[in-house]
Amino acid sequence: MVKDIVRDPMFLKQKSEPATEDDKQVVVDLLDTLKANRDRCVGMAANMIGVKKQIIVVAMGPFIFPMINPVITKKSGKFETEEGCLSLDGVRPCTRYKEIEVDYLDQNFKPKHGKYTDFTAQIIQHEIQHFSGELI
Ligand SMILES: [Zn+2]
Repeated sequence: MVKDIVRDPMFLKQKSEPATEDDKQVVVDLLDTLKANRDRCVGMAANMIGVKKQIIVVAMGPFIFPMINPVITKKSGKFETEEGCLSLDGVRPCTRYKEIEVDYLDQNFKPKHGKYTDFTAQIIQHEIQHFSGELI
């Protein structure tokens, strides 16, 4: 189900908790909401639809995939950049890494490990940062 995008900084500044299998519907809602906003959005964290759980969805070209409880295990190639966010106005400076490795659960809650580079890596880093309540 497509949800409204949360833009309240007081909500977005709260930390997100690990997701459980009870949150499977949140994953579906997040996928639907990203698809509905695909023209202006490349990734989304669950708190952007009002759920403080560690779930993100990432668009990679025509594909959209969810990552549940993602943790960055390796990072290299530090660079400075600027990013915008559907929940915020304007762009903000931030530090990112060109290559990352991530442990996460897939939509069926099976453990996965992936390597990502460039723009996809940047999206994942942005969305994971939402868990900490930092606004980028
Ligand atoms: Zn964002």
